[in-house]
Amino acid sequence: MNGSPSQPGRGRWIRPLPERVVNKIAAGEVIERPAAVVKELVENAMDAGADRIDIVVEKSGVKLIRIVDNGCGIPAEQVEIAFARHATSKISAFDDLDRLSTYGFRGEALPSVASVSQLRLLSRAPGEDAGTEIVYEGGVLQSRQPAPAPPGTTVEVRNLFYNTPARRKFLKAESTEARHISRTATALAIGRYRVGFTFTMNGRDIFRVPPGLDIEARVSSLLGSGRKFVAVNIEAGPVKIEGYIGAPDTAQHNRYGQYIFINDRYVFSPVLSHALNGGYGDLISPGTYPLGALLVWVDPTEVDVNVHPSKTEVKLSRERELHDAVVRAVRESLRQDGIIPSLKTSSGTAGNSAGIGPHVSGRTGRDNVIAGIGSARAENAPYLPDLCRPPETRDGGNTPGESEAVTVDKNTGEILQPQAAAAGSLPSVAEEPADGFRLVGRFADLYLLFQAGNDLYIVDQHTAHERVLYEEISRQIEAETGSGQVLLFPMQVELSPEQFALYQESGDVITRSGFSVAEFGGRTVNVEAVPSVMTGKAPDKMLTMLLDDIASLRKTGYDLEKAVAQSVACRSAVMAGDRLSDQEATHLLARLLKSRDRYSCPHGRPTFIKISRSDLDKQFGRT
Ligand code: ADP
Ligand code: MG
Repeated sequence: MNGSPSQPGRGRWIRPLPERVVNKIAAGEVIERPAAVVKELVENAMDAGADRIDIVVEKSGVKLIRIVDNGCGIPAEQVEIAFARHATSKISAFDDLDRLSTYGFRGEALPSVASVSQLRLLSRAPGEDAGTEIVYEGGVLQSRQPAPAPPGTTVEVRNLFYNTPARRKFLKAESTEARHISRTATALAIGRYRVGFTFTMNGRDIFRVPPGLDIEARVSSLLGSGRKFVAVNIEAGPVKIEGYIGAPDTAQHNRYGQYIFINDRYVFSPVLSHALNGGYGDLISPGTYPLGALLVWVDPTEVDVNVHPSKTEVKLSRERELHDAVVRAVRESLRQDGIIPSLKTSSGTAGNSAGIGPHVSGRTGRDNVIAGIGSARAENAPYLPDLCRPPETRDGGNTPGESEAVTVDKNTGEILQPQAAAAGSLPSVAEEPADGFRLVGRFADLYLLFQAGNDLYIVDQHTAHERVLYEEISRQIEAETGSGQVLLFPMQVELSPEQFALYQESGDVITRSGFSVAEFGGRTVNVEAVPSVMTGKAPDKMLTMLLDDIASLRKTGYDLEKAVAQSVACRSAVMAGDRLSDQEATHLLARLLKSRDRYSCPHGRPTFIKISRSDLDKQFGRT
């Protein structure tokens, strides 16, 4: 042939790509990252009817992914066919696509994975005496032979992406991939809660859940560790909704704790996630998401899973109705559990009298709604928006009523219990007067009122304290001088698979902030010391909330050190409702005024506002 291959015109031949190349291209779509391999292979195992599945991962899946199942196996004569593109035992005609009851249907996973790794499959169908072992490298068949095997299938994927260097380079840090795998494994284990799973990563048991139990057992062992959940079990016409969802105080600032399934399939559905939140209404604050799993079943013809090869996105017909059905189901379940009081709460337009001009406006409207719920949910702290709201009103820090409650002397306002130190970390010792400032009052056990000259300063004790602590802790993290309070009784915590991956990723910075945490086996860790500013708070909760905070803060662009400092500061700061003594209040102001960035808390909310005498005079028509 004459002319270079790139020259247009004569000499070009159009021909189909070799199957090996096609598979490699498809792998780019089906296998985005190691977690996708785990998903595809585990789904194959579930489709094969397995009731026990072992997942073994090394080096975030790049070194090894091994899935062992006790399902129906592949008959010897079909083992090779399983690796042919678009070969599937699951559908045969286009119409079947509308009635999918299996996970797989494209016949793409095995050939795709095999084309970008070194893959070994060992399988035995129940009726056969021996199994078959087949080995591929970069999609090329290496060997195929009879081999002894237990009933079921084992797939071992080594050196993923070894022959696609560009793709390999695209992978995120090992810890990030590990987190994706943890999430995927958790989702698979929740979606099929009757199947027993073990999940081992780098030689460590991440979880081990027995077959045959109910969704409650599964969700609480994977997401719960001691938190309160509510069962959902509702059939509304053609829609069936089952689940186990967290009490409002499990809400956190990201969706990581939410798992939603449609017809057994884990899906990413902003609509249904919105609906889950919607069911909680005012019980959770905007931007927070309760923990939990929801399994929704609809007529398979209403779901199109064929949108994207990785299949976590689905198209739903009648999305709106489904959304509303989920909202109702969640609300009804919370009500049955007594979490939503059955007395009608008005939407609380009362009490807007607080507004003294633009300075002090804000979320009073919302707060009033919450106040309207009033004593009906007295034991539940109000749920207020945004991370710098007092910790105990958010993720269940020291909920009043627990043994950690703070006792206040009614005469002096002094905090009496040892937790004073915690609420404090405001040394209650010698007053350090802030020059020219005089404490003239308090409002709502949250705002401290100071007078300086002709100005009134209204200080938010929580954000102010948060600012002070944030700068202190940041310095300690940087200088590696974080001081911890060693616990008399170290506390064991079982982390969720995702929290554990995050802990492994950020352990160093967490330690520098003053925590001392020892790994205990599995996902269990021992909290041995907490930053001294956290003394008196529940150590286990402090650690898990820290991890959850890190997850959401990093998403919004914080670097790790900032995220840790911010979370520790926020969780340790005095809260709304903590009554400070005069000395503590004055001391807090003094420290605030010495802070580098005294005007706002680390999230940017003001620490104080100033109202001048002349502003007030204007309001009263005195000018
Ligand atoms: P799909 O799952 O879309 O059918 P795959 O490429 O994932 O496509 O698998 C191809 C076929 O191999 C499946 O249809 C199934 O018959 C068989 N297979 C794969 N994994 C297993 C397994 N773990 N147990 C039994 N059969 C399996
Ligand atoms: Mg499959």
